[in-house]
Amino acid sequence: MNIALIAHDKKKNDLVQFVEAYQTTFAEHQLYATGTTGLRIHEATGLQIHRFNSGPLGGDQEIGALIAQNKMDIVIFFRDPLTAQPHEPDVTALVRLCDVYSIPLATNMGTAEVLIHGLNRGDLTWRNVIHESQGESNESNESNESNE
Ligand code: PGA
Repeated sequence: MNIALIAHDKKKNDLVQFVEAYQTTFAEHQLYATGTTGLRIHEATGLQIHRFNSGPLGGDQEIGALIAQNKMDIVIFFRDPLTAQPHEPDVTALVRLCDVYSIPLATNMGTAEVLIHGLNRGDLTWRNVIHESQGESNESNESNESNE
């Protein structure tokens, strides 16, 4: 599964601790993160993480682009509800895209905990069906192109 990890500054310690607590689970998946969040998690755990730009510099939108391609399976986004963010429109857009594509999204540790347990239990295997059908449609696109 492709998992996106994002935390606003005052929530970064929480997310680092969360990933440490479930490190064995996270190690089995492909991890993506906004710049600073990814660096903090990598430094704390050694996990391999594909890092995008920092959130305020477009990282949220880069993750949003993967969601729009239906390539992200889980988004864990520890938002800070008490601090104004310069990139609030990007944050809203990211959450909106999760709803557009029915991507499981946790915006706090309570929900993230449930999501990770669900992931370990196999509750998210329906996402594999989407990946498989995307693979098929890519193949048929390629064969259409080769017919042209
Ligand atoms: P950051 O971005 O991980 O680069 O700090 C997170 C955000 O604020 O969206």
